[in-house]
Formats: sequence, structure tokens, C-alpha cells
Amino acid sequence: MPTLLDGRKISSEIKAEIKLKVEKMKAAGQRAPHLAIIIVGDDGASHTYVDGKIKACKAVGFDYTLMQFAPTISEEKLLKHVDQLNADSDIDGFIVQLPLPEHISVEKVTESISPEKDVDGFVNQNFGSITSDSPLLMPATPFGVMELLKRYEIDTKGKNCVIVGASRLVGAPLALMMSHTGHSTVTLCHKYTTDLASHTKKADILVVAVGKPNLITQDMVKEGAVVIDVGTTRVVDATKKSGFKLSGDVDFDNVSKNASFITPVPGGVGPMTIASLMINTLRAAQYNH
Ligand code: NAP
Repeated sequence: MPTLLDGRKISSEIKAEIKLKVEKMKAAGQRAPHLAIIIVGDDGASHTYVDGKIKACKAVGFDYTLMQFAPTISEEKLLKHVDQLNADSDIDGFIVQLPLPEHISVEKVTESISPEKDVDGFVNQNFGSITSDSPLLMPATPFGVMELLKRYEIDTKGKNCVIVGASRLVGAPLALMMSHTGHSTVTLCHKYTTDLASHTKKADILVVAVGKPNLITQDMVKEGAVVIDVGTTRVVDATKKSGFKLSGDVDFDNVSKNASFITPVPGGVGPMTIASLMINTLRAAQYNH
């Protein structure tokens, strides 16, 4: 049986460490770090993610401000709110929860966030500083994956790391981190990759971030591989009160037979993304102070 990479447990450890630092900041007469969250519209999944982020703020002792807007808000108005948060010295960092309604440009909105307040790590400047020696704020989900590997003492140096999914939010920045910080040899696969299995079978460390349940089957994974499943797709499940369950991209039960370490979904990368957001907010506050 593989070792479960327990994101919930590691995330709780990280939050306990942050809580201590916040208590020290307060004891030294500083105010607590302050995170603002903008959410537009009533997408159920987005509200669930935001609830998790607020719960984490409460757990670590951060102040938080939730700004909710109707899906009809104009791009211009939303950009004005972003500008106000950029200028507000009481706000250390903020996020704009994605997705946004179609009439609003995600790129325009995210690029209008000040890099030193961009605690999701989406802004081009923060993406670009992944390979610098002293990055301030790291893209949250890939940073969470790196932290999970580090805390389970998984050696990445010289290993073949295959990442499936090359998005700007997850796969592409993770490829840079695994290569620069992890010193792995990285293969980045995407939807035009031919013969995906020929790549995944070479992975010592396989990370999957696509959003297609059961894309990765047992025959695609070599014996002893470390498997990290970032995918989260809501699939219908009549046995659940909510009517759905979360599914990763990996056929967990069968791939587990080959893996040495594997993340569950839920309870793997998801909580680590929230922990990274807390780390980034603390760093932004320290920078602000
Ligand atoms: P995305 O922007 O849709 O990107 C998906 C990537 O997968 C793209 O690079 C796409 O290739 C690639 N792809 C599509 N079909 C493929 C295939 N058959 N084989 C190989 N690659 C394929 O999604 P995302 O934002 O990166 O998110 C990916 C998944 O992770 C989603 O399920 C999302 O919900 C989840 N997620 C989870 C967390 C968390 O905290 N757990 C955080 C973020 C995202 P192209 O680039 O060629 O289009």
C-alpha cells in the first residue's frame, strides 16, 4: 500500500505554525495580516472554496474582508475595487476568486493586482520570479504541491517529473518550480501531447492537473512512482447529500497498487492550496510592515 500524502494534516501543521507567528506579531504591537477576497456571482464551487479560505483565516488569526458582487458587475467597476484594495494600506493581500463571468477579462483583472498583494501568485511578475532566488509570492497551488513533497521528505533532485496539464495556474508554474527548486528533469504534457502514457510511464514523480476524472490509469504509472493528483471535478453522486462528489484525474484505487506515495481527492492538494494562500498572506503582511 502506498503512503497517503495527507494534505489536510500538513495544511493543519502549516496553519499552526502561522498562528504562532501571528501571535508573535500581535505581541510585538503589529496588527494581524489582513486578507481580502473578491467573489463575483453565485457559482456554488467558488463559494465553497471561499468558505474554506475564510475558515483558514479564522484558524490562523488573520483579519479578512469578503467582498461579494453580483454577476452583472461591469469590468470597469470590478477594476475600481481592485484599485481600491491596491491602495488600501490595511489590506496586505487579496484574491479575486475565479472563474469570473464571461464579460470580464480574467487577465485584465489579475494583472491589475499589485504584485506585492497578489497572494494567489497569478500576476506575471510573480510567475516570472519563480526562478529568482528570493521570490516574494508564489503561485498557490504549485507552491502547495512543492510544500507537500518537501514535508514528506520526497527527494526530487535528478528525478523524472512528468506533469500532465500545462495551465498558467498550475502545470506551467509547477514545471518551473520542479526544475528550479526541485532540480528534477521535467516533462510538461498538454492536450496536444501524443502517446501520453509513454511519458507518464517514465515518471518518478507524476503530477496531474487536467480536470478529467480517470485520465490516468494503472497501466500509465510505473511501480514506485509518487503520484500527485491536482484535479478536482464535481461528478454526480446520488448517495451524497450535496448530490455530487469530487473526483481527481487519477484512478485512485488502481493507481494506488503501483504508487509509493499518492494524494487523495479530496484531502490532498486542495488543503495545500489554502495553506499556501495563508503563507503568501503572511509574507505579504511582513513585506507591508
Ligand atoms: P485548465 O486551465 O483547464 O488546464 C488544463 C490543462 O490540461 C491544460 O494545459 C490542457 O492542455 C491540459 N489537457 C486537457 N486535456 C488533456 C489531455 N487529454 N491530456 C493532457 N493534458 C490535457 O485547468 P487548471 O486550472 O489547470 O486546473 C486543472 C484541474 O486542477 C481542474 O480539475 C481544477 O479544478 C483543478 N485545480 C485544483 C486545485 C486545488 O487546489 N486542488 C487548484 C487549481 C486547479 P492545453 O494547455 O493544451 O489546453
